[in-house]
Amino acid sequence: MRVYQAGQNPLRDNRSPFPPPLPIPPVELDSYLQNARDQRGANSRIGRRWQILINGLNAPRNRGTAAHPRYLDIAALEDCYNLNDKSVIALLISKASSWGLNQIAAVYLQPLMYSRKSAKRANARGELEDYSPLTSVTLTAFAVPMETLSDKKYPVRSFFSAVHAILYYCLPHNQSLREYTEILTHLRNLLARALRPYLSEQMGLFRVKISLLVCLSPANSRDSRAIIGFSAVGKKQLKSIIIQDRMEHLRALQDVRSNGTWPVGNCAEDETFAHIPELCSSPIGQSRDVIAAFLTVDILEGNSNGPCQQCRDLINILLRQLRTATILSLAVKRNRREVEGSEYSSITIN
Ligand SMILES: [Zn+2]
Repeated sequence: MRVYQAGQNPLRDNRSPFPPPLPIPPVELDSYLQNARDQRGANSRIGRRWQILINGLNAPRNRGTAAHPRYLDIAALEDCYNLNDKSVIALLISKASSWGLNQIAAVYLQPLMYSRKSAKRANARGELEDYSPLTSVTLTAFAVPMETLSDKKYPVRSFFSAVHAILYYCLPHNQSLREYTEILTHLRNLLARALRPYLSEQMGLFRVKISLLVCLSPANSRDSRAIIGFSAVGKKQLKSIIIQDRMEHLRALQDVRSNGTWPVGNCAEDETFAHIPELCSSPIGQSRDVIAAFLTVDILEGNSNGPCQQCRDLINILLRQLRTATILSLAVKRNRREVEGSEYSSITIN
């Protein structure tokens, strides 16, 4: 737009156009793609797996993919950028209700739509108690059916486990790796915006992470299923119950030794990887050779992280158990050097 004033040359208008351009495609996607190209290396078996992931990340954009409004698609997430900070919570509440998960949304998501003060209320004894859905141990737990867990049900006990359950249902199946990676990036951005006041106030230095797991068939990379999970978050008592749940879903966790920094079962991968064994025996696994690609991102910072030593030990145990699976991290290389311990590449060999 040019602004004219009488008798003067046109002035340059440096204001950004309105409405602001949508943040597409996510800039992060380029770095994941470049990283995958770097990992491809020689034409080995693992190299061919990386090529399948590169093809998936390069798939044509397809923003309105949801075949049914019950599913989450990129266009709905992009709309949230133009609405208020809590709009992603409202979107998840509406998805929950279309899958019959209304009660879970009412207990664990709805309170975030109100003032933060409402999270602290007096109990029957007149004591101030924490009712925040992010941390409280006193809220009702729900068992949500999940076919891809060993016992077919998942206990919802916190905001993040509620979001895991809602996304389990509303993430569309059989999408490209690009679609899933873009969904993760938008969800991360929007959750950071909605939760920043809570996360910076209640969690202090604690880093909450979101992790995407995509299991796909090497024969057809659109034969795929995505799961999104989170770090174990909550007051000490709640957190230890969540970790206990995870130990039961993923027995391999019991063989992982703690590095002493955080408990085994704390990582976001410990939630998503529990779905890998069943996904390997699902129709996706009929080719008997499933690729499990994962990407873990800090919710507030947005940086991707390579797996910690505990997660790498877990991956090695899973690879020994499953034999036909390949587990690859999409996290960009520069962050891997921050991870102490053995060669990162060892986890990609089975
Ligand atoms: Zn970890």
